[in-house]
Amino acid sequence: MTIVMKFGGSSLADADTIRRCAALVRGQSSDRVITVVSAMAGVTDMLIELAQAAADGTRMRVHTLLGKLHERHELAARAFGANEAVAPLLSQLDTLVAGIGAVSELTPRSHDAVVSFGERLSAVIVAAALEGHAMTGHEAGIVTDDRHTQAIPLMKLSLHQIRETLQPRLEHGEPIVVTGFIAGTQHGAITTFGRGGSDLTATLVGAGLPADEVWIWSDVDGLMSADPRIVPEARLLGHVTFAEAIEMGQFGAKSMHPRALEPAAEYRVPVRMRNTFHPDCAGTLITDGQPNGETVRSVLRLRGSVLVTIAGAAMVGQPGTAARVFQALADVGVNVQVISQTVSEAGISVVIPASQLDPARVALENRLVRTGVARKVEIESDIDVVAVVGAGMAGVPGIAARVFGAVARRNINVMAIAQGSSELTICFVVKADASATAVQALHAEFGLAG
Ligand code: ASP
Ligand code: MG
Repeated sequence: MTIVMKFGGSSLADADTIRRCAALVRGQSSDRVITVVSAMAGVTDMLIELAQAAADGTRMRVHTLLGKLHERHELAARAFGANEAVAPLLSQLDTLVAGIGAVSELTPRSHDAVVSFGERLSAVIVAAALEGHAMTGHEAGIVTDDRHTQAIPLMKLSLHQIRETLQPRLEHGEPIVVTGFIAGTQHGAITTFGRGGSDLTATLVGAGLPADEVWIWSDVDGLMSADPRIVPEARLLGHVTFAEAIEMGQFGAKSMHPRALEPAAEYRVPVRMRNTFHPDCAGTLITDGQPNGETVRSVLRLRGSVLVTIAGAAMVGQPGTAARVFQALADVGVNVQVISQTVSEAGISVVIPASQLDPARVALENRLVRTGVARKVEIESDIDVVAVVGAGMAGVPGIAARVFGAVARRNINVMAIAQGSSELTICFVVKADASATAVQALHAEFGLAG
């Protein structure tokens, strides 16, 4: 088998945890393994702060952060004799940071250049631990557009180049370590995929090779039937479909980078979530297989959101009202999480992240209320979204009745409801203090504890 193994930052905290990851790669000796790495734990956060501190001219902070970064990486490198490989990278980082300090300006492009050092440093250390060769995602063939900090891979080109670059090396048998998270434009500028982007690197490499499986090693066993902090009897899901996993990720299940599953789903490369600290556990396998006869698989809760309702009789029968609502939100960069509208058309409700409430409110009031399109904008901030997810719900009558029956028996008021036409998810909004009870009720209703 050809396996891509991706290790997250928590699996790469220090020399000991790196040694553990190297053992997991070596343990797969009858397979051909390509390793993809995140930055060491906490390093990306430090680099982001460092870049900002350099631009702000807060020299003491820059000094402290650079000191810590040198120390962390030198210490880990020493354990594997990798000091000569990390030294030039650390001095390039020093130079880059000095340059940002000199011009007091941080562009998205220089931001990407600074944060790229996290993965570049961890990759040479892990390569030393494996006695292999480190390369960047860009060297491995991944090319993106120039949206720095949120770059999108040029899919066909990247997959083709990954195959051309990595296949021969794999035949050759030398262990290869690829930096996650970072790639480059066609002109060679360094880009990054957004936080957690190493998962996307792993699935791109998996789709390009192609690999038989992509294993995402982190510090959780896999996807669960519910958050065990809310439902202690929650169970690990051994097998879910790509569609279910993507949906669960949207609702904050500790899973993966939001776009990471796209290449895997499109090119049908199974993904396995595994726990570095619990390697005996088989984790969660994600494939495009058919649902297994169960309907609801998982109950999730989305916190930190607000419910915004745009209301007014003037909206009834007016084509274009919804377009104006969503355009107003899009223009100020607000991410809409849930949408619901009644047939009476007198109100459109959306759920958005609480952190985006202020720009959303201003935009909606200026563009809809002041212009008379809507009468008012109402905000409910003390809410959570609860969702049931399962590919097997599609076409099965009575699921919604059971969902809302179970919630009603606990005396919980439902404030808004949405279901996508894929019938993969039913979600609804409740008061924040009722959401845990709603999750527990649904977990019991659908017998998810097994
Ligand atoms: N190091 C990057 C981050 O912390 C990418 C990743 O870990 O996947 O977001
Ligand atoms: Mg990470």
